[in-house]
Amino acid sequence: MQELAGNLFIISAPSGAGKSSLIQALLKRHTDMQVSVSHTTRAPRPGEQDGVHYHFISVEQFKALIAQDEFLEWAEVFGNYYGTSKSTIRDSLSRGIDVFLDIDWQGARQIRRQAPSAKGIFILPPSLTELEQRLNNRGQDSAEVIAKRMAQAHSEMSHADEYEYLIINDNFDSALNEFERIVLAQRNGYGSQASKHNSLLKQLLATTAN
Ligand code: GDP
Ligand code: ADP
Ligand code: 5GP
Repeated sequence: MQELAGNLFIISAPSGAGKSSLIQALLKRHTDMQVSVSHTTRAPRPGEQDGVHYHFISVEQFKALIAQDEFLEWAEVFGNYYGTSKSTIRDSLSRGIDVFLDIDWQGARQIRRQAPSAKGIFILPPSLTELEQRLNNRGQDSAEVIAKRMAQAHSEMSHADEYEYLIINDNFDSALNEFERIVLAQRNGYGSQASKHNSLLKQLLATTAN
């Protein structure tokens, strides 16, 4: 993808570390940020709405979208398929909206190949005990699913060093402030600024100072 006005952020973490909560809390503070709604073959959890949390589709539909080259990336996680659609992201970025991708490390690697300017943020829990407690407190997954996610946590966390930024989500408000600072600072990156202030830069650089 070419340089667009908005910034693309990859947010990864072991399940239960607080990705969704942090993203949702940051979106409440800023209207010019969005989370990309992925497609998944997993069943909706209680309260999850189609088109809001995920686009819930069948395995057949998912495979058809792969064949149509509609995904920027896709992966099989916990026995379900998850994918990020190309069109939605491009449209938001071109309008100067920062986009968060809530995806696993496999997806992150695929995104980096296609969008090298994407920045990765990895979120860690303060401990494994706390991680398990959060998965239990969330009360949305069966004991079996929680055990599967805990077993997967180590492998997900072993990829933290592939990310540009690291946040420990211990105190939620501190983690949220750190997250906000990272995203806002990125807006002053040269690529972003050059894309937003293209004509000003041309004008200033074309002028010969006396
Ligand atoms: P999910 O994707 O369905 O798990 O939903 P979210 O990740 O968006 O979780 C939202 C819930 O997390 C809300 O009920 C919030 O009140 C709760 N929450 C957010 N921050 C904190 C926190 O620091 N501590 C606790 N205990 N709960 C929190
Ligand atoms: P993920 O999206 O990474 O799977 P969630 O955002 O759903 O994780 O968070 C898992 C659970 O932990 C949720 O019930 C959430 O409310 C809670 N949680 C998130 N951050 C904190 C925190 N800093 N302290 C305590 N509980 C938290
Ligand atoms: P959950 O079922 O808890 O919503 O998500 C399970 C895992 O799938 C998380 O690690 C999440 O980051 C990952 N995931 C969600 N959407 C996508 C996606 O579009 N692509 C990829 N590669 N992973 C995703």
